[in-house]
Amino acid sequence: MCGIIGIFNNDKAAELAALGLFAEQHRGQESCGMAVNDGKIIKLRKKMGLVKDVFTPEKLKILQGKIAIGHVRYPTRGTSSIYNSQPYIVETLSGPSYALSSNGDIINYKEIRQELEAKGVYFSSKNEGELILKYIVFYVEKEGYSIIDSIKKMMKNIKGAFSAVLATKEALYMFRDPYAFRPMTYGKTKEGSVVVASESCALDILYMDWKKEIKPAEIIIVNKNGIESIENNPNDFRVTSTEKHCIFEHIYFSRPDSFIFKENVYQVRQKIGNLIAEDDDINADVVVPVPDSSNIIALGYARKRNIPFEFGLIRNHYVGRTFIQPEQTIRDESVFQKFNPLPNFFEGKIVVMIDDSIVRGTTLRKLTKLIKHAGAKEVHLRIGSPPVKNSCFYGIDTPTQKELIANNKSIEEIKDFMGADSLKYLTIEQLRKTVKEPENFCYACFDGNYPVR
Ligand code: SF4
Repeated sequence: MCGIIGIFNNDKAAELAALGLFAEQHRGQESCGMAVNDGKIIKLRKKMGLVKDVFTPEKLKILQGKIAIGHVRYPTRGTSSIYNSQPYIVETLSGPSYALSSNGDIINYKEIRQELEAKGVYFSSKNEGELILKYIVFYVEKEGYSIIDSIKKMMKNIKGAFSAVLATKEALYMFRDPYAFRPMTYGKTKEGSVVVASESCALDILYMDWKKEIKPAEIIIVNKNGIESIENNPNDFRVTSTEKHCIFEHIYFSRPDSFIFKENVYQVRQKIGNLIAEDDDINADVVVPVPDSSNIIALGYARKRNIPFEFGLIRNHYVGRTFIQPEQTIRDESVFQKFNPLPNFFEGKIVVMIDDSIVRGTTLRKLTKLIKHAGAKEVHLRIGSPPVKNSCFYGIDTPTQKELIANNKSIEEIKDFMGADSLKYLTIEQLRKTVKEPENFCYACFDGNYPVR
């Protein structure tokens, strides 16, 4: 999971891009970068670290230009290194320059890379963004394709998830894979600049006049003539008859104030909470979320069951998201740095603790122990998604299948491992009820039905 931003036609393009990236910081905290076009050259700054530290006002002053693209990264393909951070740029001898940011992952990465390397294309990283950029540039510069035709060729041959923005010296191109796995929204600001971002929350901060989601396989060109949309038939490029949005974006990844895949994330999370509550009969004293990603699910559950909702666990916001940290050792240590129980709160209480998902199970096990140690009489775990049994190949860093707890243990065994008094997951049937167009979603990490392999 990563976040992208693109700005066209704004004298303060870099500042706006930094604001957008800051709003998308939850999508990646490992590195960030920006490429800014001043009409002559594309300047690039990328660094390990957070947006506020990398793009200080002093650094933004150097990045002058009217077109900017940016990226926040959380690693999937390639190691945690600056070489794998985005955006990527290509300068050509004939003059044009290209810069690209993308969110997603490519299934046939190895095959496509070998194909390009055999034709003399050089790679400096193992990142899917560099592959997409170099593919497009190769067919434009060496084979005489237009940029649009090259993007279409890329859509036909590169399989997987990509929501991407490409900048040249004159234009911004935005495009999305035919399955539309990852979210992507664009719009126009009140002053006439065009902005594109992974999540709508990044556009809200920039005061938009209007905004809309980019369609599957759609390519949008923004240049001095305005905005042009090329609506391709996604079925020309994919093997499924519908789009396959990542349902996990609604469960966990996206911000609750974002509007993605035609729905409000907040409302979907409330429905998840309502549905887990529907057939539950635990007589609890309090409902406690694992903050922050489970807050709204827990609120939906508590309201439906008429049980008090309380923030019994306090989160330290200066520690990164647990799931998002690349190293297991860092993850383990951060659980206790990150959560602390309220003093004198849990004693003698029957607690329903809500989490959005269980991946390895390490965090929730420690939290259950923490709450019991704080005096809870019983801890009942309710999970806002079905058991995660399969790895993701579309841009989410789920561990290997053997590391997924639901792949190795039954629900009863997981409950015992957690030290909980009971454990209940949302079912896939219930999850499908939380969105308006359930057939348009990917559920592969739960049911193993991968839309494309
Ligand atoms: S496999 Fe899971 S995480 Fe990956 S795209 Fe599908 S639903 Fe999302």
